[in-house]
Amino acid sequence: MTLFQTQSHSQKPTVAVLGAGIVGVTSALALVESGFHVVLVDQLDDVSQATSKSNGAQLSYGYADAMAAPGLIAMAGRILLGQEAGLKFRLKPTPHNLSWLISFLREGTANRFIANTRSSLEIALRSKAQMDIWQNRYHFDFDHQVSGKLQILPDQASIEGQKPLIDLKRTMGIRQSVLTPGEAVEVEPALGCFGGEMAGALYSPDEEVGDPQRFARAALDLILTASPNNRFLRSHEVTSVDVRNGAIRALKTNRGDIEADAFVFAAGQWSSRFAKQLGIRLSIVPVAGYSLTYRLGANAPKHSVTDIKAKAVLCPLGDKLRIAGLADIGYDAASVAPARIEQLRSVLTKRFPGLAAMDGDGEPWVGHRPVTPNSQPIVSKTALLNGFVNCGHGTLGWTMAAATAVELASKVCAQFGMADSRQEITSEVKPANSANPSGADLVASA
Ligand SMILES: Cc1cc2nc3c(=O)[nH]c(=O)nc-3n(C[C@H](O)[C@H](O)[C@H](O)COP(=O)(O)OP(=O)(O)OC[C@H]3O[C@@H](n4cnc5c(N)ncnc54)[C@H](O)[C@@H]3O)c2cc1C
Repeated sequence: MTLFQTQSHSQKPTVAVLGAGIVGVTSALALVESGFHVVLVDQLDDVSQATSKSNGAQLSYGYADAMAAPGLIAMAGRILLGQEAGLKFRLKPTPHNLSWLISFLREGTANRFIANTRSSLEIALRSKAQMDIWQNRYHFDFDHQVSGKLQILPDQASIEGQKPLIDLKRTMGIRQSVLTPGEAVEVEPALGCFGGEMAGALYSPDEEVGDPQRFARAALDLILTASPNNRFLRSHEVTSVDVRNGAIRALKTNRGDIEADAFVFAAGQWSSRFAKQLGIRLSIVPVAGYSLTYRLGANAPKHSVTDIKAKAVLCPLGDKLRIAGLADIGYDAASVAPARIEQLRSVLTKRFPGLAAMDGDGEPWVGHRPVTPNSQPIVSKTALLNGFVNCGHGTLGWTMAAATAVELASKVCAQFGMADSRQEITSEVKPANSANPSGADLVASA
């Protein structure tokens, strides 16, 4: 059964995007701006329901540090022995995982860490520029604000460790400085109640926050309003890829085939599942993290606050306070681990009393960062003529999504011999009811 076929009357090529997380949705947005029709496909029933749902909400344009770092590698023994509260090692010994682990350890030298961090920062800064363009064009409402950020540095060693990074970032135009504890409390009075050790704080006045799920929903509404040829096929699980003569003919789903002119795989931590068929190496491992979201408390912060000792970030998001963090390397279960949620809750009560109004359960959440060994996302053509990937955004998918979306759109344009220029989206046809287009059942009929 073919569920979706490209419209023969349509002048524009259609691109099917597998995965409606923040990476898939931003890819779709950039593709529509580039002159394509898009069919967004997800096994879940809304956009941004998996790892892009309740993450730390940081647009960390100045904090895009690579995960494989000398400091982390030095802790390897303690992590393996379960002595690091924030980090757990749950990687199953499969060939894929062991190969990822060897590459990850190789990326942890001082030189590789600096090179990877510089490259991540470049992507993050391109992302900021693209997000600014989108905000000027579309004015999406997603609790976006330039909150600034304070990272609590527990001891002198952590202050010293920041110095080369501050120097690197300064050369890239990123403003950061180390404050004394007194200065930090002056900038962010909520830190007056901090219940842990603070030797200083790294202050970044330009850091931004925003809700990725609200952004994704607003972007989807725009995409669907722009043309009836743009679709969101919710609750469609892609089971395999139908390949004919070196090109993809269709995505095979539990509800029928989806045909298109080109296909983008933006399936987050699940992307590796398709690597063999696509003829591309996708070295990605899930690193689980957790979050709680409460109403703001009496001592609500104005800035984002990162507590590196507790491995958590606290983020003011509209009238909410979200705490997100911890890292369980290789944990891929969809269920939240109750002990990890309790750990985050006790960070709030013991280290940051009063920042959140701790009524209710705080909407416990687990997400799986799709981490590559060098912390670089994979934006690439595949071995198949009309297949592309955009995945592996790790700890920084929200921060990097806009940059990788336009990079992806450029590659798809090149494949079709189209000009690489993106125009503001305007509606091709005014829908009869455009109030809530994403709320309608837009599944194409067989
Ligand atoms: C605790 C935590 C805090 C974080 N904080 C931040 C932060 O503050 N800032 C930041 O920049 N990043 C943060 N991240 C990282 C960020 O959330 C991820 O990098 C990002 O969400 C990845 O987006 P994605 O679209 O690639 O994947 P996802 O959001 O996981 O989307 C992939 C989609 O593909 C779909 N899919 C997969 N397989 C199939 C299939 N076979 N058929 C149909 N659909 C399929 C899934 O249902 C899913 O919707 C955090 C992550 C965690 C866990």
